[in-house]
Amino acid sequence: MVAPQEKRSSEERKHKTVPNGAQTSQGQWGRAWEVDWFSLASIIFLLMFAPLIAYYFVMSCDQYQCSLISPLVDLLLGDTRLSDIWDKTPPLTYKAAGIYALWVTLQVILYAFVPDFCHKFLPGYVGGVQEGAVTPAGLVNKYEINGLQAWIVTHVLWFANAYYFHWFSPTIIFDNWIPLLWCANILGYVVSTFAMIKGYFFPTNAKDCKFTGNFFYDYMMGIEFNPRIGKWFDFKLFFNGRPGIVAWTLINLSYAAKQQELYGQVTNSMILVNVLQGIYVLDFFWNEAWYLKTIDICHDHFGWYLGWGDCVWLPYLYTLQGLYLVYHPVQLGTANAVGILILGLVGYYIFRVTNHQKDLFRRTSGNCKIWGKKPEYIECSYMSVDGTKYYSKLMTSGFWGWARHFNYTGDLMVSLAYCLACGFAHVLPYFYIAYMAILLTHRCIRDEHRCFSKYGKDWKRYTTKVPYRLLPGIF
Ligand code: NDP
Repeated sequence: MVAPQEKRSSEERKHKTVPNGAQTSQGQWGRAWEVDWFSLASIIFLLMFAPLIAYYFVMSCDQYQCSLISPLVDLLLGDTRLSDIWDKTPPLTYKAAGIYALWVTLQVILYAFVPDFCHKFLPGYVGGVQEGAVTPAGLVNKYEINGLQAWIVTHVLWFANAYYFHWFSPTIIFDNWIPLLWCANILGYVVSTFAMIKGYFFPTNAKDCKFTGNFFYDYMMGIEFNPRIGKWFDFKLFFNGRPGIVAWTLINLSYAAKQQELYGQVTNSMILVNVLQGIYVLDFFWNEAWYLKTIDICHDHFGWYLGWGDCVWLPYLYTLQGLYLVYHPVQLGTANAVGILILGLVGYYIFRVTNHQKDLFRRTSGNCKIWGKKPEYIECSYMSVDGTKYYSKLMTSGFWGWARHFNYTGDLMVSLAYCLACGFAHVLPYFYIAYMAILLTHRCIRDEHRCFSKYGKDWKRYTTKVPYRLLPGIF
């Protein structure tokens, strides 16, 4: 992640000739070129079971009051058959298809046709046209950052409907949750398949494509780095942020409305989940320009992992706490509620400040203050696919001196707070913290592997200086 001005003079660059074909020679960073059997087995497992897992969780709430064990016990004891469960599952409906089509269309319009206005009046907000990081082929893409605006417009429309127009019930999402799951799956598979075909036949930038020759790996992890339609419709930015993350807060609001409808009140646990997850979502959109420098945009290619994951996994499994609270309205004691709020806010503070420190450090090329002092860092270099040498810096002070991924630690604290808000009666709400712990630990290892191949011995010097990954003194 280096701003173009960080490139040193041209005599320092070593040029290689890169054919303008679909497959370039080696890239020294980015996703893998070769697939080991473990990665392949994991990918096939995920392709087969991730959609089933998403279905199982929502079905167990719909049919078994959010018990994850009861469906299995019933099946094992012969009290129910798979076909019984399937027969009770709501099918795809025209109503759900209409709602989903309208939803995606609204988000496409807000993303592709409404340039950002928010940065003109919100002090400190970075929106409008922004540059991404240097790609492995040495390109710098431009992005229209207008996610905050899309989020605000969507939520204004939601509240205007709930309190004034009454076109539809605020419980509409909950009421159509399983039919909408089928729609989300259709979009997830269509977009991932389209991205694969596009990667082979009409890639946006052939030099940034990666082909392992393994169909499953390429489908899952993607071929194209930054697939686009036209100049501005960027698949990664659109699918990562909208429709999934804009929907996240609306889904929670719909759950709160359902609690109100069923029990005549909204519990403090539901409010906590709405507030903490609302802060996380707003933070994401407020910092969307920063997001261009995260692993999702800087390093991951666009395949099923991002396409299907953003359409199905994120909206369905990141919102399980709210769904659970519709079936089990937990009213927390004041001390517990305050404790959970503090855990969530401290976690958020660590998450935000750590991310901000790196962003500030990289934006100013180290000419900034971290905790009132000049930051300490390690100088490092790497090479893009065309042989150009770039220079970068790895910060070793602030939270980045405590651990190499302290931002993940903050994220895990917030995630735990959402789960604790649901009490301890069922395991289902705790899926999120278990999943995040696996995701972020795996991500940490994946990122470090990539950084090592990018920076080589400079990365070794960095890990010697900052020896821990997530928890200083422990891991
Ligand atoms: P980071 O923001 O930590 O980015 C890692 C990259 O930062 C590295 O690849 C490297 O990139 C650079 N880097 C590493 N160490 C340093 C250093 N010491 N100084 C300067 N730069 C450094 O990771 P992510 O993109 O994974 O995460 C961003 C945020 O998003 C995190 O807070 C995470 O918790 C959150 N997240 C949330 C998810 C969710 O589902 N809720 C999923 C994933 C992430 P370079 O090549 O430029 O050097």
